[in-house]
Amino acid sequence: MTPEEREQVPDEGGDPACWLARVCPECGLVADVDPPTVCQRCGTRLETGDQG
Ligand SMILES: [Zn+2]
Repeated sequence: MTPEEREQVPDEGGDPACWLARVCPECGLVADVDPPTVCQRCGTRLETGDQG
């Protein structure tokens, strides 16, 4: 896998909020699954943000 392929971003067209929560605040990587999860690149915890 090339570095370019690892930098892919999801196609636009849907509701941005659907995937916005998946974006890592530390490195910008988009997670493969909805939060809560852990960034596969840097290990930062991704929360849903709906709580509180
Ligand atoms: Zn990250």
